[in-house]
Amino acid sequence: MKRSFPILVALTAVLAVSCATAPAAVPTPVALVTGSSAGTYYPLGRAIAGLVGAPGGGFTVEVRTTGGATANLNLLRERYADVAFAQNDLAAFAFEGSEMFRREPPAAAFVELRGVATLYDETCHILARADSGIASLADLLGRRVAVGAAGSGVEAEARAIMAAAGVGFDRIEPWYLNFYEVAESLGSGELDAVFTTVGHPSAAVADLVARFDLVLVPVDAATVASLRDSYPAFVPAVIPAGTYPGIDKDVPTVAIRAMLAVRADAPDALVRSLLAALFESGDALAAAHPRGADIQKADALLGMTIPLHPAAARWFGVEP
Ligand code: GLU
Repeated sequence: MKRSFPILVALTAVLAVSCATAPAAVPTPVALVTGSSAGTYYPLGRAIAGLVGAPGGGFTVEVRTTGGATANLNLLRERYADVAFAQNDLAAFAFEGSEMFRREPPAAAFVELRGVATLYDETCHILARADSGIASLADLLGRRVAVGAAGSGVEAEARAIMAAAGVGFDRIEPWYLNFYEVAESLGSGELDAVFTTVGHPSAAVADLVARFDLVLVPVDAATVASLRDSYPAFVPAVIPAGTYPGIDKDVPTVAIRAMLAVRADAPDALVRSLLAALFESGDALAAAHPRGADIQKADALLGMTIPLHPAAARWFGVEP
């Protein structure tokens, strides 16, 4: 007994030190939450999963479809997800516990939310039936407008844009519909217009444009300016002519940035392998979706609205 005591103390000390310094294990499978299978998050998420969860990497990645960015941030917070696609405007709201993330009481700021990188611009598409007479944001007054699936980030943009346009969200008739329901409601003639915030070209928008006679409604310069005063995450953007068949002129609009987010307790190894997939995998992401070509290290901190995960900060050589 007398002899074993110092050994035990030594053993405990070794264990304590290794526990304190051992890197956290990457959960497997890693749950990566995206959006609709008809969106842009999903094909890019699949490509990222293929790179990160490559054989021999020690963990696999499960890609899940969801309602979109709002749902993803809630799933990340509740630990149902490990990595989330999000919009930079919503990430800021979640971090502060504001807008749709406000909960009373207690204050529900998601202070453990951390950024990995921003990815590409998600353009606000505002589609209207060609026969509806809707040519401007003001024409949406009193109309039936789809504002995203429940859990998507789209409602936030619709609210902000309608406020900046001087109409207000409370003076449109918002319908919460996924892409499939939007198609149904356009087909039955019940719906006048559709908001969606997605990296173009969107498979879902292309499908709607192919099936129905639709126009893209521009966001005018005055609305862009007033929007940016209240919500600096918005940047001016253009949906180029030809992005969707039959829409043959450039349409000015606004965009926010897509990003990948984790919790502060995400293992460094996971964050590093996400960064390697994003920025060191050649053309793999561009092959998955045209916006994949926009995912560049030089732009990866543009519009980052939340603190970086420490492993990402080290990777970029900046303060978290
Ligand atoms: N930004 C959209 C949203 O959350 C989804 C875009 C996508 O699926 O690519 O709601």
